[in-house]
Amino acid sequence: MSVDYSKVHELVIVGSGPAGYTAGVYAARAQLSPVLYEGSVTAGGALMNTTEVENFPGFEHGIMGPDLMDQMRKQALRFGTQLVTDDITEMKLDGEIKTLVDGSGNTLKARAVILAMGSAYNIRNNSPMRMPQDWV
Ligand SMILES: Cc1cc2nc3c(=O)[nH]c(=O)nc-3n(C[C@H](O)[C@H](O)[C@H](O)COP(=O)(O)OP(=O)(O)OC[C@H]3O[C@@H](n4cnc5c(N)ncnc54)[C@H](O)[C@@H]3O)c2cc1C
Repeated sequence: MSVDYSKVHELVIVGSGPAGYTAGVYAARAQLSPVLYEGSVTAGGALMNTTEVENFPGFEHGIMGPDLMDQMRKQALRFGTQLVTDDITEMKLDGEIKTLVDGSGNTLKARAVILAMGSAYNIRNNSPMRMPQDWV
């Protein structure tokens, strides 16, 4: 199912680490029909580069980072979170309707935005997102 760029979405989630997929699970279960931007090349977040995660509740013997993130992704999908494998490159977060632009040039409108981008990116409200050469 492709994203409807003509409507105002209830919720857009930016980021696909544990925070993003968790937000997707809860928001989809709350009937908010979330659209989640996973990132163009970094879907799954920091735990994709991790071997064994020993401290995640529910996995007595630990779980490999990529396997954990695959489970979270599938759980978010199962409840209807719409995943987009692209970056958000620009956001305007003031006002009732927020505006986001993705790496393909699509513009989305949303009533709420959850920023779940981890620590790798620096974004500023009302300005184009800083791209790799400017990350801090
Ligand atoms: C090597 C390593 C080992 C670790 N091991 C453990 C461990 O064993 N146990 C543990 O509890 N924690 C561990 N951690 C910490 C854990 O990875 C982080 O706490 C967790 O990943 C943070 O989740 P997050 O969702 O906040 O952000 P991240 O996992 O950083 O995810 C952020 C996501 O947002 C995406 N994103 C950012 N900007 C945009 C944008 N503009 N558009 C679209 N997407 C965007 C990124 O691509 C990324 O996918 C480890 C971390 C590392 C680096």
